[in-house]
Amino acid sequence: MSVGNLRDLYQQVILERYKAPRYRGQTNPVHRRQRGHNPSCGDTIELTLKLNEAGDTIAEVKFEGEGCAISMASADLMAEALQGQTITDALAMVERFQRMMKGEAEFPKEQRKLNVMQGVAQFPVRIKCANLCWHAVRAALESSTNQEGIDPTAPDIVSTEAES
Ligand code: ZN
Repeated sequence: MSVGNLRDLYQQVILERYKAPRYRGQTNPVHRRQRGHNPSCGDTIELTLKLNEAGDTIAEVKFEGEGCAISMASADLMAEALQGQTITDALAMVERFQRMMKGEAEFPKEQRKLNVMQGVAQFPVRIKCANLCWHAVRAALESSTNQEGIDPTAPDIVSTEAES
């Protein structure tokens, strides 16, 4: 898909985040690590999370990976939005984002930047792209990891393929 077509379909901010992401890289230290894959588009992502000392709040989220503008912009916006959120609030945001992709919700004022992804809900084939990083962060938050961020019981890859 050309950049021109994307510009027609999606808002400018998505392209800007894709071209100049602010949260690419890895956190230091890594408290949680989660890879995700969206086979329908070929997007891959690897999230790393740094938690606060108590382990109940997200200090920082970073991502690496390759994919379409939607998947990468969604990850960058998510990383920004989750910074400083408690794990409980972050999981509620995952829920809200997925509802937004069904056209059933949007974010309140404090997190309104995430609402730029709302337009994606009109393009069902792209919803998995937008949801990929949110699936991955939920898996990361729900897993019980050791200090290295490796959870031996968790699947390495979170795939969105199973979702309809
Ligand atoms: Zn994609």
